[in-house]
Amino acid sequence: MSASIGIIGAGFGGLAAAIHLAAKGYRVTVYERQSMPGGKASEITADGFRFDTGPSLLTMPFVLEDLYDAAGAAAEERVQLAPVDPICRYFYPDGTVLSAHADEGAFEQELRTFAPGDADTLRRFLDYSQRIYELTSDIFLFNSLGDLKSLLRVRNLPTLLRLPQIDPFRTVHEGVQSYFSDPRLVQLFDRYATYNGSNPWQAPATLNIIPYVEYRLGGWYVRGGMYALVRSLAALAQRLGAELRYGSDVERIDVTGGRVRGVHVDAAFIPHDAVISNADAVFTMTQLVEGKEKRKQRYRELEPSCSGLVFLWGVRGTEPEPAHHNIFFSEDYRREFDDIFERLVPPADPTVYVSITARSDPAHAPEGHENWFVLINMPYLTKGNRDTDIDTIRASVLDRLRRSGIDLTGRIVHESVITPLDLERRTNSNRGSIYGISSNSRNAAFMRPQNRVRSVPGLFLAGGSAHPGGGVPLVLLSGKLAARGVMRKEAFQG
Ligand SMILES: Cc1cc2nc3c(=O)[nH]c(=O)nc-3n(C[C@H](O)[C@H](O)[C@H](O)COP(=O)(O)OP(=O)(O)OC[C@H]3O[C@@H](n4cnc5c(N)ncnc54)[C@H](O)[C@@H]3O)c2cc1C
Repeated sequence: MSASIGIIGAGFGGLAAAIHLAAKGYRVTVYERQSMPGGKASEITADGFRFDTGPSLLTMPFVLEDLYDAAGAAAEERVQLAPVDPICRYFYPDGTVLSAHADEGAFEQELRTFAPGDADTLRRFLDYSQRIYELTSDIFLFNSLGDLKSLLRVRNLPTLLRLPQIDPFRTVHEGVQSYFSDPRLVQLFDRYATYNGSNPWQAPATLNIIPYVEYRLGGWYVRGGMYALVRSLAALAQRLGAELRYGSDVERIDVTGGRVRGVHVDAAFIPHDAVISNADAVFTMTQLVEGKEKRKQRYRELEPSCSGLVFLWGVRGTEPEPAHHNIFFSEDYRREFDDIFERLVPPADPTVYVSITARSDPAHAPEGHENWFVLINMPYLTKGNRDTDIDTIRASVLDRLRRSGIDLTGRIVHESVITPLDLERRTNSNRGSIYGISSNSRNAAFMRPQNRVRSVPGLFLAGGSAHPGGGVPLVLLSGKLAARGVMRKEAFQG
């Protein structure tokens, strides 16, 4: 009989692992504590509006295609992806507005009037970003970074020798500033550090890989909204034979005789040959597995990524200026990051991200209305900041929008709010982090928990807090790498 694998969590990481394993004939059971799949990528429908609660932009679509191919998915089982243009519209505090296009020629053209001195820099910067991707993606994204041995494989040596080209010794900000002279463009490209919850003044410039991913590989809208992707993957896992159990909160991973034996859930013990936890790695290793205090402490010390506060607003009337994706920048970007990452307090003057899927799918809001997903970055939870002052933050968001000529006073006809504490309580994310572990230090890639937990034979990790990191495509890869680990024969040796 094929091996039985328990997967804790039906987030993107758990669903990807379930699909890879079920497609290879493993018996797979997915335990999800909530009543629906998706985890951070959930969905709310209310008062005629539909909202995604988490991710809104999909990058690296070939990762998703690879997952669909592994499952032999038919065309009608796959979501449709639509390119987004402009990829994002930026609103600056000085009143200027810039539309960034994935089409490099069009973006360059836009820059000729917006920041003429920097128009020619765009290509050079994206070449630099592309070089980092080409040098690092094979080692740091598409494979497990399990041990030094694999890192030192002969084929990785050229990369290690060209280490300075991946720019690990400068910060994101220093890297960006060495290319662009217009502070508005420095701010724009610095912001990509937040794509995995990091601080551009601390994270290594290697993260300048992200603009290449967004501009040259493209940013996509999932038709129907990101939750359509969750639905598609959950249906595919089930079609391949995986059992998805909702409302099943795993209490403990059973480790007896030095290896994983199964899970304790719904007041029962269910044996499994191996377990993949898609729950946060720190939560898994400190709450679900018995172990020495020293090991737990090592996990607790990993710095979480930032958290976020989400307002889901049903808005009466339509605004002409915002595109599908929009950023309203704060006045003092440095101060904002100091608030979030150093003082660990909500930003006094936040940068506001707004995504309106009704721009691409009009059915997501009633006629004459729009569905606004509004996100601001927040510090991860500490003892001192667990109570979010929603009213103060709402007021500063509305004020920021007003400064760009958008007045939503009296026009918000629906509001749902998701706080850092909600994220922690619903998904067990460590301190409400939205991307898992931060990449603020140079050795973050090496500190991040690996997909195979060497100290607990039979236990694997998949998700944003494990290798290769947060964000939808990386989390899908994480599920694949964890599944690949299970498929190796040592997974079953104790
Ligand atoms: C507001 C916000 C905006 C974002 N924007 C983007 C974006 O635009 N693009 C992008 O690529 N990424 C974005 N992200 C990040 C992206 O959503 C995450 O990286 C990704 O969804 C994480 O998936 P995951 O599988 O690691 O974890 P999760 O989604 O957290 O899934 C883990 C699952 O495990 C379940 N679970 C936990 N403990 C247990 C237990 N004991 N028993 C049973 N089940 C359990 C949880 O309920 C959850 O369903 C955003 C995230 C947020 C919150």
